[in-house]
Amino acid sequence: MKPLIEIKNLNVIYNLGKLNEFTALKNINLEIYPGEYVTFFGPSGCGKSTLLYTIAGLEFPTSGEVIIDQKKPHELTKQKLVDFHRYTIGMVFQAYYLIPHLNIINNVMLPEIFSGTDVHQRVLKAEELMKRFGIESLAKRKPSQLSGGQQQRVAIARALVNDPLILLADEPVGNLDSKNSEIVLKLLDDIHQKEKKTIIHVSHNPKDLQYSDRNFFMKDGQIESIVQNKRVDRNLSSNDADSLLKAYPYLDKSEIESKLILNHIISDYSIETQQQMEKTITRFIKGEISEKQLISLFDKPLEDGGFNLYSQTAKQIGQKVQQLVKNVNIVNQEVNTESDLEKRVKLIKSYLTEKYKLKLNYDQFQRLEEFLTDRFTFKLTENRFNQKIDQPWSQGGLGLNSSTVKKICREIKLILFKKKFRDNES
Ligand code: ADP
Ligand code: MG
Repeated sequence: MKPLIEIKNLNVIYNLGKLNEFTALKNINLEIYPGEYVTFFGPSGCGKSTLLYTIAGLEFPTSGEVIIDQKKPHELTKQKLVDFHRYTIGMVFQAYYLIPHLNIINNVMLPEIFSGTDVHQRVLKAEELMKRFGIESLAKRKPSQLSGGQQQRVAIARALVNDPLILLADEPVGNLDSKNSEIVLKLLDDIHQKEKKTIIHVSHNPKDLQYSDRNFFMKDGQIESIVQNKRVDRNLSSNDADSLLKAYPYLDKSEIESKLILNHIISDYSIETQQQMEKTITRFIKGEISEKQLISLFDKPLEDGGFNLYSQTAKQIGQKVQQLVKNVNIVNQEVNTESDLEKRVKLIKSYLTEKYKLKLNYDQFQRLEEFLTDRFTFKLTENRFNQKIDQPWSQGGLGLNSSTVKKICREIKLILFKKKFRDNES
């Protein structure tokens, strides 16, 4: 997937060449992907707002590149910039900035006033948003008659009324008590979950980090680290391979593969260790390191860039990775004809037999082949397939013990997931 927002070597220097020259952003590089919710986090003065406004085209890069939805906001003509602010980004600020003498519904409809849309449409859209945000009964009031939390909900409705691609929110809960903060943050989360809108949230409060997919930690005008939110990782350890693609749309193929593999075999290590392991496995998949090097890295002490696992564990993990890579390769082969399918089913069959030391008789093998063929042609759903192989022989199943059945089901799910992933890619 291509990034929606791309920043390369960005520097922003205020008062360039004057005595009070100040570098607010130093060599920022980042990518944000469609549908991501990220938070720029850091102490006051670290450059969060400057970064957000540069993305919004309201602040100018001193050097470097800012590309938003294939446009460079600072190079747009005045008219194009107006369109950009109307359809590409919606903004929300700490201080709400509602227009005091307009009532609430007119505040919400404000961005549409010059957009040429039908008035009835505007009213409907505004009412729909106000209803969703629980502020419809306030439509005729003026902003000063609303609480802070209500005003911020109005401001979010206004930012969304044109259905922009990206929502930028600068400390949106900075002025709110904890109860109202939660209401507003949950609202942002809901917009992210349901509309898959890309959201950039700026905050200096660690409490606000829980909803985002990734958190960018900033200090002194730089991004110090980018951390995947554990919330996403927790979803993943459920081993649901589909959530992997959704959670990591921006990863490249080998990174997804390593995550998949890691997920499959390791879930007891800390998130940090898992992240390190992932990097190592990715290098292995890319062919940058050999199996021997992989195992020795797993075996090395932490301070030498390894993982400090016991040799035995390191070796086991190395072998599992190797096996899984092999399994992944089975899926890589194209299936164009019936005989290709047959070949693949046979490959998978022997792979499973070897891996799980299956001792099946001829009839059992026949059934396994049949089930695999039906599963790979999607005649069987995942559930049906799992049920079938779980059944005793007399009821049409394979008559295997349940722990082996479980392992096979997981393996097939993984193999099919890989196939789907590759089909999506091409
Ligand atoms: P944050 O949002 O993280 O609090 P800002 O991006 O607002 O930080 O500001 C980063 C630094 O740049 C601060 O030290 C601030 O004083 C300075 N700064 C911000 N805007 C300007 C400006 N227009 N002129 C000069 N300095 C500025
Ligand atoms: Mg700020």
